[in-house]
Amino acid sequence: MMRAYCSACRYPQNMCLCAHITHIENKTPILILQHPKESKHPLNTIHIAKQCLKTMEIRHTPIDDDLCHMWTKDAALLFPHHQSLPLPSDHKGPLLFLDATWPKAQGMRLSIPSLRTKTCYHIPVPKKGEYTIRKAVRPNALSSIEAIAAALEHVERSPNKYDALRSAFRARIQMQIQHIDPIVFQKNYCAKS
Ligand SMILES: [Zn+2]
Repeated sequence: MMRAYCSACRYPQNMCLCAHITHIENKTPILILQHPKESKHPLNTIHIAKQCLKTMEIRHTPIDDDLCHMWTKDAALLFPHHQSLPLPSDHKGPLLFLDATWPKAQGMRLSIPSLRTKTCYHIPVPKKGEYTIRKAVRPNALSSIEAIAAALEHVERSPNKYDALRSAFRARIQMQIQHIDPIVFQKNYCAKS
């Protein structure tokens, strides 16, 4: 039998997320460069963010460098590492995120010349990540959707404006937990601390 999918959120009907989606008008555009593998991840938090936010554009790697340069030239790249700078709260222009596991995102950044030369920023004092069920989570790492919410609140100076992103994400995690085998869950998703 064909599995039925919700035509709006595109999740299986028994995991429809529509009731948890709130549309928010973001003043700051969000750009996402996504690793193709990430779009197939069951949680794909970017897919959730896309449904909530008015202005968000997603492209996938591989990407032509000239195109990437044109697309991202006014954007601040959010990519935390030991030399990244705190994102200025008066940043104007889009916010760019690399959606992939950290090592893959680092590989993407270094292999695309227009990204390699870009200043990297981190969100000052991010809220603690709630993303506890993903395998190999880095300490204090935020999921992409949490990082987007925190960065938008920071540059738009509107604390809690994007809480709806976090609650949609929490709802999605709960559904995922309810629908996976407890043994598989334990083995693959519990963060090792
Ligand atoms: Zn739905």
